[in-house]
Amino acid sequence: MKKLQQMILNLSLKAKWTLTVGATIFISYAIISIVLFIALQTWLLHNEEKNAMRTVDDITGFFESQDSTVTIQQLQNNTALMKAILNQEQTVRIFNFDGVEVIRINDVMRAAPFPQKTEDYFTTTIKQQKVETTDAFVVHKIVQIGPFQGIMQLIHPLTAFHAMLKYILTTIIIVGLGALLFSVSISYYLANYLIKPLVQLRDAMIDVRKRGFSAQPPFNYQADDEIGDLLTMYRSMMNELEISFTKQQQFVADASHELRTPIQVIEGHLSLINRWGKDDPEVLSEALDTSLKEIVRMKKMIEELLQLARREEVDGNAMADLELVLKNVKQELLQLHPNVQFECDVIGQKSLASITEQAAAQIFRNILSNGIRYNDKEPKIQLSIHYTELAIIVTIRDNGMGISEKHLPYIFDRFYRVDEARTNHIGGTGLGLSISKMLAEKYQMEIEVKSSVNDGTSFILNFPLK
Ligand code: ADP
Repeated sequence: MKKLQQMILNLSLKAKWTLTVGATIFISYAIISIVLFIALQTWLLHNEEKNAMRTVDDITGFFESQDSTVTIQQLQNNTALMKAILNQEQTVRIFNFDGVEVIRINDVMRAAPFPQKTEDYFTTTIKQQKVETTDAFVVHKIVQIGPFQGIMQLIHPLTAFHAMLKYILTTIIIVGLGALLFSVSISYYLANYLIKPLVQLRDAMIDVRKRGFSAQPPFNYQADDEIGDLLTMYRSMMNELEISFTKQQQFVADASHELRTPIQVIEGHLSLINRWGKDDPEVLSEALDTSLKEIVRMKKMIEELLQLARREEVDGNAMADLELVLKNVKQELLQLHPNVQFECDVIGQKSLASITEQAAAQIFRNILSNGIRYNDKEPKIQLSIHYTELAIIVTIRDNGMGISEKHLPYIFDRFYRVDEARTNHIGGTGLGLSISKMLAEKYQMEIEVKSSVNDGTSFILNFPLK
């Protein structure tokens, strides 16, 4: 049994499907056929019994309708009328109580044995029994023919009944085999059709393993069912994987490229100390100072790169009070840059944004600190929070140096710096805005920038409400 179970388990999905459908149809058909066959057999047998009894009644009626003086001899000479009552297969014999046959109508079968108990002579009996080798109904009944009293025996063979049953059984078997063959072929075809996309999926996976994510063959399965769902899931999973994989690759490429410069600078300064700086405190101090600055920048860059490479789950239930978050970030920045002037406007009924407080703070911090750092004047920052029915619009406007039109489309790209020399001096890594953009995409918000050189830049953040 266990072996059979294991064998079935090891079968291909196609074979399992075909086998299951075939077996189910076959078993259902067999059960229905058996029930129908038994019902039909009982009904037909009952019909045969009724026929035999009807013949007996007709013959008895015929005897009763005869004159009371009719003799056996008269009837013996005229059996044609009685023959007309019987069908060709039936035989009727009339015996006297000594068992001597006095009349015979038809002679299809030999006489059957009499009931063993004599009291049974006086009741009508019907029995299904073998006469010679033929199955038949045998009826015994007492009859009165004129002054004569005797026993009538009717033999009603069941040959036609058995022939009919055989015919029905053969038909059931032939139709059953046909239905089985038909259902197996249909289920095989169906299994083939349904499993085809799974085979395609497997091939696609093999291809991806061999040739990487670039080798994603298109699936031509369009149905909106479970397999369609599976393929869609596979596609989205592969896309996710590809994004993660590309991010990882990009992280390694970016990190190695961007970290090379500060490492080279530190290396240069350390060799300088090695050669001259040991005895010259001025060189030593300057080299150490620059190296430290580079190390701090490197540390910041590594932290930001890691933040970009990480793919954290979106917190769907997150809620943030943007006014409060902005106030905290503002205070944080005022400690570092006490000379900055902030102005803040709030319009509309307060509502909460669907974003975590940390993410909102990070976005605000990046944008606000840019407005302060990329600024030649006394930094002045205007903040406005506008609550509408559909969204919260936060506008951050600075009076800084602005961004020219040709640079504007790229400021959200990784490591993009408008003026590299200046940015390095300011301590930027070129990652702040790409982190803000990544967070914005994660929480389905939008960031728009407007800027004019020497006049200032406006960042318009749209936090859609759920
Ligand atoms: P970083 O960390 O170097 O500041 P960001 O990604 O934050 O990098 O910004 C990218 C570039 O966009 C900066 O190098 C800077 O030149 C420019 N930029 C960003 N914000 C402003 C702003 N408010 N005013 C002027 N230039 C800006």
